[in-house]
Amino acid sequence: MSPTNATPPSERTRVRRVAQRGRYDRETLHAIVDAAYVCHVAFADEHGVHCIPTACWREGDHLYIHGSNGSRMLKLATHGAQICVTITHLDGLVLARSAFHHSMNYRSAVIYGVFDIVEGAAKAAALDTFVEKIAPGRSREVRPGDINELAATTVLRVAIDEAAAKIRTGGPRDDEADMTREVWAGVLPLAMRPRTPIIDAAPSGTPDYVRQWHEIASANAAV
Ligand SMILES: Cc1cc2nc3c(=O)[nH]c(=O)nc-3n(C[C@H](O)[C@H](O)[C@H](O)COP(=O)(O)OP(=O)(O)OC[C@H]3O[C@@H](n4cnc5c(N)ncnc54)[C@H](O)[C@@H]3O)c2cc1C
Repeated sequence: MSPTNATPPSERTRVRRVAQRGRYDRETLHAIVDAAYVCHVAFADEHGVHCIPTACWREGDHLYIHGSNGSRMLKLATHGAQICVTITHLDGLVLARSAFHHSMNYRSAVIYGVFDIVEGAAKAAALDTFVEKIAPGRSREVRPGDINELAATTVLRVAIDEAAAKIRTGGPRDDEADMTREVWAGVLPLAMRPRTPIIDAAPSGTPDYVRQWHEIASANAAV
């Protein structure tokens, strides 16, 4: 992957453990965020440290989250709390010839920063972008958020700036002495994929995005 647009790592984003798996370029970080529906937001308050899963999406160089104005996490985040967002994609289980060399293939990202509040027209636009991420074209089909729904919702964004990605690919890395051991070794690839959509209503036929989900689900069922 291209190392262009790489922000030099900060003291807290420089990957030290297996440093060659670390990436800092925007292309890699953006791809990891774009492939995610969920991130985990870590923050601290007077009760200790918390790490809360929530939906996320990207626009430009920012990761966005949203939620009810009543959410503890969002209230804290709107007051300038330091946060750390993580995203993990598990791509495979790596089975080595020795118990200790078992591993996992993954793409993960860690982003540090402070959330900004997204307000006014930008807030409604950001929520449309979120709906478009779920299903392209859908923001034009559904009822848009009304003034009360928008007022009750907080939208926040953090710059994907002080951020690192870490990626493991490939098979097991065994010790030379274990290579002749008579045991199955390899990778079980794992992926999150659409399964067959479950219809609740389809009064005007099947939208393109639903057709696409069907195709992916049938292709995977056939494998
Ligand atoms: C699915 C999965 C399973 C894993 N299983 C294990 C396991 O069982 N045992 C284990 O020790 N490690 C595991 N890791 C790796 C783990 O995430 C850490 O990278 C590793 O433990 C080193 O942690 P550290 O704090 O010493 O890293 P350091 O290299 O000291 O971290 C320095 C900085 O690098 C960045 N960084 C570190 N790790 C990551 C990451 N994964 N993604 C993005 N940025 C990162 C952060 O900004 C961090 O503050 C796993 C990772 C994934 C995604």
